[in-house]
Parts: sequence; structure tokens; C-alpha cells
Amino acid sequence: MNLHEYQSKALFIEYGINVPRGTAVESSVEAFKAAEEMSADIWVVKAQAHTGGRGKAGGVKLAHSLDEVCKYTDEMLGMTLVTYQTGPEGLPVNKVYIEEASEIERELYLSILVDRDNGRISFVASAEGGMSIEELAAEKPEAIKKVEIDPAVGLTGFQARELSFALDFPKEVLGKAVQLFMGCYKAMVELDMNMLEINPLVLTKDQNLVALDAKMSFDDNALFRHPEINELNDNSQKDKREVAASEHDLSYVGLDGDIGCMINGAGLAMATMDMIKYCGGEPANFLDIGGGASPERVGKAFELVLADDNVKAMLVNVYAGINRCDWIAEGLVKIIPTVDLKIPLIVRLSGTNVEEGLKIIKDSGLPIILADTLKDAAEKAVEAAKK
Ligand code: ADP
Ligand code: MG
Repeated sequence: MNLHEYQSKALFIEYGINVPRGTAVESSVEAFKAAEEMSADIWVVKAQAHTGGRGKAGGVKLAHSLDEVCKYTDEMLGMTLVTYQTGPEGLPVNKVYIEEASEIERELYLSILVDRDNGRISFVASAEGGMSIEELAAEKPEAIKKVEIDPAVGLTGFQARELSFALDFPKEVLGKAVQLFMGCYKAMVELDMNMLEINPLVLTKDQNLVALDAKMSFDDNALFRHPEINELNDNSQKDKREVAASEHDLSYVGLDGDIGCMINGAGLAMATMDMIKYCGGEPANFLDIGGGASPERVGKAFELVLADDNVKAMLVNVYAGINRCDWIAEGLVKIIPTVDLKIPLIVRLSGTNVEEGLKIIKDSGLPIILADTLKDAAEKAVEAAKK
């Protein structure tokens, strides 16, 4: 789960990390009030959406008067922000963050992540701020400093100073830098984050360290330990299909192809997607209905796949172990008459109660294309989608 910048910055304050004063607003009237109370000369108006690259996409603007604060707020609220990270569909902006402008001397990069290469938390820092870390890694990898943290020891003072030297901080900032790194590490571990990124971290003209941007991503599997973080979830920033799926405990990942997939088990789902590709097609989604799927669950999953306009053919592939083919068949036979099924449906059943399942489908008289093997099913789906 990801947070908005304004939410992440509120957490930073709890962990003693400096951020500019700011208020999240939902109207230009609120923006005016917030900016006036801040008594600054320059404000920054920032669109709140789960993406980076807002600056280059018109989602971060400097305002030199209260009028400009209101104008930019009105422009941003309700806009669909398209950045290099969002894809062409963009993300809705429902809140805007009004912040005092910092006087920047230098922009730096800092992130902390769960590093799969070494199974540890790593700090990644660079004195070259402002650039995206992906570009930097490609063009100037030597400018990136990485420090691995031993989980039994945590971030040591020595390592914090090592990072400070890599960022080329003046001596008088060293103490502040160590405090900032320690605060970040504490937040990361205590709140079970996958990633924490400050881009840019800035050294201000008056030699303070301030997090100008904040991105936090949390481990979904640990959210039950942090109900207060879970409450900050914003479904408007997620793929609608994935939100609907999670409401029914279905694992769903939307993809770009045109063959809708409904499969039990993540392994079989992966294998089916591979087979679709092997046969020359493209899956529209990954959907694992899980073990022991009741007819109701099957119905929900079916509706979910059909709700995707890109789907030109649908493939149901079930290898029933804990599942039962007759439940799957029952679910399908019940749901199909209630939806306006305009696309071909290919079904391959195997495993527990397969005879009963196939009988239910054949007796239903519904126009379902049956397949024997995984390959047969994928071939039929690819062919049907092309028609
Ligand atoms: P994004 O990463 O989505 O583009 P940022 O919050 O990093 O958004 O803002 C982009 C740029 O705007 C920053 O690199 C910085 O130069 C400038 N900026 C952002 N917030 C402030 C601020 N409070 N004061 C001064 N400049 C800012
Ligand atoms: Mg940024």
C-alpha cells in the first residue's frame, strides 16, 4: 500500500524528520486559509496522487501570491495527472497540498528499501538529487552510495556518517544528517515499510535538512499490525478492477491483453498465462480464485473479468484439488444467464468431481466451449479472441 505525500510527511513529523509546513486541502477556499495562516512569501501547490514526476507534469507549482495559490489549487483539483509513472490513463487528484517553499541550496536523493539481492534493508543515497534514480543508475551508477544494514544491529552511527560523507554534507550538518537517517530507519522498521523515498532531500540555505518529497510504501501483509496506516488507504489511486477483486479476497492483477483468465492457484495461473502467450495470445489479467471456491465466489470472479472492456474471450482453467469442478460448473451456470455474455467462453476442468462438473455444463445447454488440456484451452481461447 502506498501513501500520499501529505500523509507520509505527517508520519515524518512523528519520527522527528523535518518537512516544510503544509496543509492538505480540498478547495481553493481552504487553500487560501491554509496559505494565509502559514505566513510565507512563496508557497508550493502540490497535486496529491500516488506518483512521482509530478513536477514535470504540472502537478507541482510555485505560487507567489495567495491568488496564485487559489488558481493553481483550482487547476489541480479534479485533474487527471499523467506522469511517466502513471501510464496514459493517469490518476485523479482529489487533494492538493499547500506547503511553504524552502530555500534550496542542494537537492539530494535518499531511499531505504528491502533489498532482495542481500535480504536486508539498504540505504541508497546520492548527492545528485532531482534526477530519477532509474536514470541515475543507468547514466552515473558511481554517484549512488549503497549501505546495507545488519538486521541484528540496525543502522550504526558509523554507517550514518558514511552516508553523510557520500552526500558531501558540511561538518555542521553531520549531526542533523545522522538524526535524519536514524529517524528514517526507525520509521521503516517500526511501520513495516517496503520502501521509503525522499527525492529530493534538501540542504536549505540556512543549513537545515528537509524532506521536500516523501514516498512510503507498506508491506500489505503486515498492515494488520498497523490499523492506523491501513486507514490512510486511498482506493481512488488504485486500479478499479484490483479494488473490486480485493473486496472479495480474490488475487487479481490487471494486464494489457484481451483474454480474460479465471484460474485456481497462482502456479496454474502463471502456467496458463505462459501457454496463452505461447499460443500467440495476450492475457488480460491474472486472477486466482483460490482453493475451495464456492459457486458465489466463482460468480464474483466471473463478473470481475467480464467488467474489463478489453476482454475478447474468456478462459476458465481449473485443476480441482481442494476445489470441486461441480462447484465451479454450478457457479458458471448460475452466473452466465444473469450477465449479457457477448464473448466466447472456454472452460477446461480437471481433477476432483470433473465428471459431475462437465455434466452440469453440458446439461445447461449454454454456449460454452470445452477444452481437454491446458494447451487445447489456450489455443481455443487465442483463436476465439482473434475472431
Ligand atoms: P515529484 O517528485 O512528484 O515531481 P516533488 O515533491 O519532488 O514532486 O517536487 C518536484 C520539485 O519541486 C522538487 O525537486 C523541488 O525542486 C520542487 N519543490 C517541491 N516542494 C518544494 C518546496 N516545499 N519548496 C521548494 N521547492 C519545492
Ligand atoms: Mg520527488
